[in-house]
Amino acid sequence: MKPYIPTEFSFDPDERGHFGKFGGRYVPETLMPILIELDEVYKQYRFDKTFWNEVNALYKDYVGRPSPLYKAQNISDEIGAEVYLKREDLNHTGAHKVNNTIAQGLLAKRMGKTKIIAETGAGQHGVATATVAALMGLECEVFMGAKDVERQQLNVFRMKLLGAKVHAVESGSKTLKDAMNDAIRHWVTHARDTFYVIGTAAGPHPYPLMVRDFQAIISYEAKAQLLEQANTLPDYVIACIGGGSNALGMFAHFIEEEKTECIGIEAGGKGLDSGDHGASLALGRPGVLHGQLSYLLQTDDGQVEEAYSVSAGLDYPGIGPEHSFLMEQGKVIYDSVTDDEAMDAFVWLSRTEGIVPAFESAHAIAYLKKMPKEKIKDKTIIISLSGRGDKDMIQAMEILKL
Ligand SMILES: *Cc1c(COP(=O)(O)O)cnc(C)c1O
Repeated sequence: MKPYIPTEFSFDPDERGHFGKFGGRYVPETLMPILIELDEVYKQYRFDKTFWNEVNALYKDYVGRPSPLYKAQNISDEIGAEVYLKREDLNHTGAHKVNNTIAQGLLAKRMGKTKIIAETGAGQHGVATATVAALMGLECEVFMGAKDVERQQLNVFRMKLLGAKVHAVESGSKTLKDAMNDAIRHWVTHARDTFYVIGTAAGPHPYPLMVRDFQAIISYEAKAQLLEQANTLPDYVIACIGGGSNALGMFAHFIEEEKTECIGIEAGGKGLDSGDHGASLALGRPGVLHGQLSYLLQTDDGQVEEAYSVSAGLDYPGIGPEHSFLMEQGKVIYDSVTDDEAMDAFVWLSRTEGIVPAFESAHAIAYLKKMPKEKIKDKTIIISLSGRGDKDMIQAMEILKL
């Protein structure tokens, strides 16, 4: 396979980061010059061979790419379709997030920064950032809601072990959205030596574009792998959506294929009419959060609502702006899967293929059973297995009575 380098997509945002009306840079005046500088730097490196040689070398020997495209024969037989899993769960640190932190870390080095900061919810992005900080000799501080610090102690310890400093954020609901607010605030006053590593395809421009480019290696590989293994393009590609980075990575190289339908799965939580879910596209309205205009879970008077999902990686009240655009353009189909459906799929994949998925990824797997049988009969389907379930074992033990 030829080494990965981003290509221009027809869905690239405009100069100021707009995907249609979504995206943009809704930030305090003091942050504007910092974002404009980053935008200039990214323009310089986006198609730069030397930069990408460095990224690709780490993808290969540090992350373990290309990740396999695995034909899940047992599941295929059971549902009567050809199901392939894109094994991001086999990456170093256990999920797709490291694809993004490696590239942003190298960008930070190119910019001469000595410190990186990150926001994290469950801790997965914090761990992926602390990992590259250790690798690249950068100081690392991670902002995490105090409530999340309390309930994700294993990941907090892992970040500390890797040498990062973890700030417990006490404001607001003490979760991810507050952590991201604090990270942005910290960045404003420390940007001279500090690079902000955002963990999903959200935030002010150029982050949604950058993160999507970095994750697009997922579909770059998957497309070549499927052509080689089955000499065909997929009928469907399916991925779960928190902020939307593994999904955009999985869709990028398929979105313009006539044959392929891309499907994004939001967290249905306890059900869309329960009030406890993370379905920003299904039930949100456009609004501004974390420097971007996008669909957002909010009250009638515009207060950001808390999201909920059994999987910590999907309970974000916002969503990357490109998804809002793709939904309104009808380019991607969006649906949701509940906690219960995801937990069934978590057990199902474990027992039919011997692969324990992350709770997040189990949402995408669950959709196989939700699709009408006649719609998937004999079709070729790729699912983004965004992460492994090791991190979810303690929670799984509490939920499943085995
Ligand atoms: C963080 C995470 C997600 C959700 O993030 P996206 O940006 O939507 O991809 C999904 N799966 C896993 C395993 C994660 O760690």
